[in-house]
Amino acid sequence: MPELPEVETIKEDLRKVIPGKRVIRVCVHNSRVVHEPAPAVFEKALRGKKVKDVLRRGKLLIFELSNGSAMTVHLKMTGQLVLRKTKNGSTESPGSRVSFYLSGGTVLDFNDQRLFGELRLVDDWRRIKFVRGLGPEPFDLSYADFRKMLSGRNTGIKPLLMEQSFISGIGNLYASEILFCANIDPRRPARSLSGQESKALYKSIKEVLKKAIKHGGSSIDDYVRLSGKPGNYVRFHRVYGREGKPCFVCKGLVKRIPQGGRSTYFCPRCQK
Ligand SMILES: [Zn+2]
Repeated sequence: MPELPEVETIKEDLRKVIPGKRVIRVCVHNSRVVHEPAPAVFEKALRGKKVKDVLRRGKLLIFELSNGSAMTVHLKMTGQLVLRKTKNGSTESPGSRVSFYLSGGTVLDFNDQRLFGELRLVDDWRRIKFVRGLGPEPFDLSYADFRKMLSGRNTGIKPLLMEQSFISGIGNLYASEILFCANIDPRRPARSLSGQESKALYKSIKEVLKKAIKHGGSSIDDYVRLSGKPGNYVRFHRVYGREGKPCFVCKGLVKRIPQGGRSTYFCPRCQK
């Protein structure tokens, strides 16, 4: 699933081309991905609106529109936003669930193989229930607050990092990478972390996410950038997807364990 670095990459890609463009026409090819309002209303209400800006909150993309309303896109498991130019005769993209025809001959396709993605058109995106439940953005979080958030939490540190109400934007992949970077065993209860370990974790969150954004995110599964090209962060993965392979630091073997229904990758020698 795309996490903060992937969604941030798409947001930055969109910001270079979308603001100022007008929605000419919207085609909902599969109504399952349009959660609010009814698909026909969604299509009609977007027509003629100009996109003012594109924002991100957690893993959510927000298209701010000229009339103050907003369209939000949650990519979930397999969602993609891909930009193309309309060519004479051929204007259909086979995998598209929703196509946004924009001014200047540009089409934004929302592709989503498994149909878990969620599109909404709302008056105030900050009032969406999902948004109100989100924890702080990693880059806005102070160390003092982070330390306070960890204290008293008995949850394993890895599942806690993935809880969107705790911190927004971190998922299974980056939680594993961040904990490796901080040398912390993913099974440790959050409150057992010393001051030094909390500090290392705090720094690792920012470092890993920042570097992943710099390289356009990780293209595993379905994630692609707006151009349709992959992100390049996979080559920097230290543990994720490397079960049984030698750790880059100690040469011991990377292990995979189930944790909260997901796979956790870590190095038992380096992470204590
Ligand atoms: Zn190691």
